[in-house]
Amino acid sequence: MTGIKPKTICITGGKGGTGKTLCAVNIAVMFKNEGYNVLLIDGDVENPNTYLLLNGELENKREVPFFMPKIDEDKCSRCGICAQNCTNHALLYIDDSIPILMSSLCSGCKLCYKICPEKAIEADFKTLGWLYSTEILGLTLFVGELKPAEARSAGIVEALLENLENIIKNEPNKFDVIILDTAPGAHCDVELLIEMADVSIPITEPTRFGKLDLKRIMELINLLEKDCKVIVNRSSLLGFRDQFLDELQEENIEILGDIPMDADIVDSYCQGTPIMDNNSGYDNNGAGFIAFTNIYENLKKWINLNE
Ligand code: SF4
Ligand code: SF4
Repeated sequence: MTGIKPKTICITGGKGGTGKTLCAVNIAVMFKNEGYNVLLIDGDVENPNTYLLLNGELENKREVPFFMPKIDEDKCSRCGICAQNCTNHALLYIDDSIPILMSSLCSGCKLCYKICPEKAIEADFKTLGWLYSTEILGLTLFVGELKPAEARSAGIVEALLENLENIIKNEPNKFDVIILDTAPGAHCDVELLIEMADVSIPITEPTRFGKLDLKRIMELINLLEKDCKVIVNRSSLLGFRDQFLDELQEENIEILGDIPMDADIVDSYCQGTPIMDNNSGYDNNGAGFIAFTNIYENLKKWINLNE
């Protein structure tokens, strides 16, 4: 099914472990079940695990290079211009000496490389991480992975989004639905993905921590002026469902649906078989299956997929 403008849905959450990836994978699978072409992007680059929930493998590994300046000591006049203009203070300059790079502060902006009057700065590319693309269960999956001990995760998310922008530009009808699965938190990786999406769905759980982190991520979504509806996962936890949903409604937080504790969901999670996949064999009358079906129907109405 193509020919419609792709809808981009960001699945996010202020806190880890709320079930973001579980929701992202099952929502992607439900669109696929109905014949839509779905691209799922795993932007949780420090802990990408969508492929595990799809029982697949990471394939087509591609390196993401990262610019680092390297100063040629023979060419450097020790003028200090590079250090004076580096807003990240990543170059330490002491009068008449060759600047010293503090690589963990460098954003890779290339400003020093461009402005050095002696052309004494060379490009010294390092590996920031990797991108993968694969087909699993009828979905196209892009995954970003940050190299261990690297801090610049936004560089991997930017590389994922560059890929996505190229697809939208060159093959605008290739996908009907694009699902973005973010990292937990409200930092710049998450912001980049929310910014790219038409709508955002924070996943939360009925606890005090869940509510606090939900508020943080909603502040970010509101700042970015994006439409947002919440999924409450594990809603039957300790019997707080109704109270929690009431509290959200009192605060004018729109709810897309809630997912109760369910043995089939736990089993599907452990097996790496999405509960909503047509061939998963789970009970269509189970509480988890019904909850996801309701969420999917509400989601389709909300995003007007065929417009
Ligand atoms: S701007 Fe170039 S010449 Fe001047 S200190 Fe930096 S590297 Fe050396
Ligand atoms: S690349 Fe940018 S951040 Fe890194 S040292 Fe040069 S000016 Fe500073």
